Amino acid sequence: MKIKVLGVYGSEGQGQRPSAFLVNDRVLVDAGTVPGALTVEEQREIEFALLSHAHLDHIVGLAFLVDTLAITASRRPVIATGIAPVVDDLKKHAFNDSLWPDFTTIPTRQAAVLGYRTLPDEVESRVGDLWVTPILVDHTVPAGGFLIHDGETGFVYSGDTGPTDRIWQAARGLRGLKTIIVETAFPNRLDGLARASKHLTPAMLSREMKKMPADLPIWIYHIKPHFFEETVEELQKIDPARIHILEQGKIYTF
Ligand SMILES: [Zn+2]
Ligand SMILES: [Zn+2]
Repeated sequence: MKIKVLGVYGSEGQGQRPSAFLVNDRVLVDAGTVPGALTVEEQREIEFALLSHAHLDHIVGLAFLVDTLAITASRRPVIATGIAPVVDDLKKHAFNDSLWPDFTTIPTRQAAVLGYRTLPDEVESRVGDLWVTPILVDHTVPAGGFLIHDGETGFVYSGDTGPTDRIWQAARGLRGLKTIIVETAFPNRLDGLARASKHLTPAMLSREMKKMPADLPIWIYHIKPHFFEETVEELQKIDPARIHILEQGKIYTF
């Protein structure tokens, strides 16, 4: 499995892009950044955008991806995929002909560059060449993390979440699991803000780690650019052998 990190931050800063990962060149896992990190040819290969939730820092790249596809004679639509409330949010609040065009009718309804697909909670579904199980996590809006595998190896993706349980339980049943990609947004001194916005701090992450399948590497994303150094310093004190900060632009394979 190949994971390219298109954007790794919890917001946007100079050269720091919002969260998005491209798996095996065809499936986006969140879409905070897309055209800013890929050539047009690479964008045209994308089949699915698996979205944890509809917050802007996870979907804004999809808005610009479909815009690229619309003007470059796309081969196929990109299918925005997620749990039902996330797909509903996209239709109602994003691609609604008000905030951004309804790309399910562009250039025509028959040859549209955007489609939607709803995945049932806690059921494994085929998405491209992957198997994906959405699991509800605890964020301020409906949000699902994902268990993702290709039949041999796999990973857990938390999406945005505060302290949560179900996804860590479910991960224990997944064979071939190689890593856990989990958010951390704020440094420990902003515990109140993290709780209010339902995100993790390093201290909260270290409590979550006790619930995760033991001994798997932990790959961190979604640190707020403004607090990056401070948060990384706190993360490194927890377990430097196990915790890795994902690097934007890098390709990880396993
Ligand atoms: Zn976010
Ligand atoms: Zn969010």
